[in-house]
Amino acid sequence: MATERTFSILKPDATRRNLTGKINAVFEEQGLRVVAQKRILMSKLQAETFYGVHKERPFFNDLVSFMTSGPVVVQVLEGENAVAKNREIMGATNPANAAEGTIRKLFAESIEANSVHGSDSPENAAIEIAYFFAGLEIVG
Ligand code: UDP
Repeated sequence: MATERTFSILKPDATRRNLTGKINAVFEEQGLRVVAQKRILMSKLQAETFYGVHKERPFFNDLVSFMTSGPVVVQVLEGENAVAKNREIMGATNPANAAEGTIRKLFAESIEANSVHGSDSPENAAIEIAYFFAGLEIVG
């Protein structure tokens, strides 16, 4: 397995409850390295573009409002098999279905306010990383 990078967001429900450090500790304990990180206020256009694949879904407008409701921490995580590994560490979208020990089981408030985003494929990871980070901001 090769070293890989994935894109991650600590969502507004996580920053509001001061969970940045606790969530990063889970990543680090499980072998993912935070190689880029910044705290931003996502604009409506950025959120709409980022979640564009969901624009016909009933939850889209609420999701955009949620993602722009407070600061987020955008990150690049690096490690062996990082995309799939992060999806495992995050747990299911709905915290009610998330496995014990996953970030969403530990911290998520609801199916919407579920604390973290993680890329679902290496192809999307590359697109999402390039959307938020310049190459020089990523230090592996
Ligand atoms: N979401 C929601 N309601 C739903 C499904 C998803 O509010 O019924 C939100 C939730 O914040 C989720 C995001 O939309 O993380 C993107 O959904 P996706 O199905 O891509 O889930 P993920 O890849 O984040 O697990």
